[in-house]
Amino acid sequence: YCKVSGRNNKLFYTPDMNDIYNDVLLLEGDIRKALYHDEFELFYQPQINVENGEVIGLEALIRWNHPKKGNIPPSKFIPVAEESGLINQIGKWVINEACMQHVEWVNQGHDPIRIAVNISAIELQQFDFADQVTRIIEETKMDPTYLEIEITENSVMQNTEDCIRTMNTLRDMGVSLSIDDFGTGYSSFGYLRKFPINYLKIDQSFIRNALSEPSDAEIVKAMIQLGHTFGLKVVAEGVEEQNILALLREQKCDYYQGYFFSKPVPACDLESVVYGKMS
Ligand code: C2E
Ligand code: CA
Ligand code: CA
Ligand code: CA
Repeated sequence: YCKVSGRNNKLFYTPDMNDIYNDVLLLEGDIRKALYHDEFELFYQPQINVENGEVIGLEALIRWNHPKKGNIPPSKFIPVAEESGLINQIGKWVINEACMQHVEWVNQGHDPIRIAVNISAIELQQFDFADQVTRIIEETKMDPTYLEIEITENSVMQNTEDCIRTMNTLRDMGVSLSIDDFGTGYSSFGYLRKFPINYLKIDQSFIRNALSEPSDAEIVKAMIQLGHTFGLKVVAEGVEEQNILALLREQKCDYYQGYFFSKPVPACDLESVVYGKMS
C-alpha cells in the first residue's frame, strides 16, 4: 500500500496517501460486488486487414457500468484488480463471456471470427491458467482456434519458464497469442525470442505520432520489420486517420485497429457494424 519514506528511514502516511488507499480499498470491494452482480460487459473492436479492408478479428474490451458511479474505465480498475488478485476472476469472466458470445454468433449463422481477450501477465502466472482456459473452451464449446490471448506486461514477469510452458500448452490447443503494447513498459525484444507468440501489437502512442514525429514513424517501420523477421503478424493500434493507414499500407503492416474504422461497441451493435460490413 501507500508507503512514503521519510527522513531517518521512518515510514509515514500523508493524508493524501490515506485517501488514495481508502479509494483503492473501496474500489476493491466494488469489484467483488461487480463480479457477483454481473456488472461487467464486453465491448468489441474490429481488427482490419490493412491491405483489403476485411474484418479479420475482434478485440474484447471490458466495460464496467457501476450502479452508482457510472462507467469506470479499465485503466482505473484493472490495476486495482491486479494488485488485489481479483484480476484472476475478472479474467475467467472475460474469457468465458467472449467464448459464449463467439458461439452465439456462430449459432446465429455468422462466419466464425477470431476474438482476442486481454490477459495480464499476472493471470498467466497462475499455475492452472491453461487448465482454466481448457475448461472454459469445453464448457462453451468454443473452437479454440478462434480464441486469441493478448498479454500485457504491467510488471516484470516472474516465473518466465512456467509462463512459457503455459503459453505452449495454449498454442498446442490452437489458441493464438499476442504481445500487447509492444515497445512500452516491460514488453521487450527478449520476448520475441522466448515467447511462442503469433501477433505483435504496436502500442498506439507510436502510431498516433507517426505522422507528426519522423522518429515515431521510423520506430513503427522498424517494429513492423522486426515482427515480420520473427514470423509474426503485426497489428497497429489506435489508428484514427486515413493518413496513418496509408503509412501502414506502405510499410506492409498486416492489421490495424482504431476509431478510424470503429470504436469498441457492444455485442448487439457489432452485428450490424461488422457482419453488415462483411457481407
Ligand atoms: P489495450 O489492450 O491496449 O486496448 C486498447 C485501448 O485503446 C482500449 O481502451 C480502446 O478502447 C482504445 N482505443 C482503440 N482504438 C482507439 C483509437 O483509435 N484511439 C484511441 N485514443 N483509443 C483507442 P480501453 O478499452 O479503455 O482499455 C484500456 C486498457 O485496459 C487496455 O489497453 C487493456 O490493457 C486494459 N483492458 C481492457 N479490457 C481488459 C480486460 O478484459 N482484461 C484486462 N486484463 N485488461 C483489460
Ligand atoms: Ca489489448
Ligand atoms: Ca494495446
Ligand atoms: Ca494498453
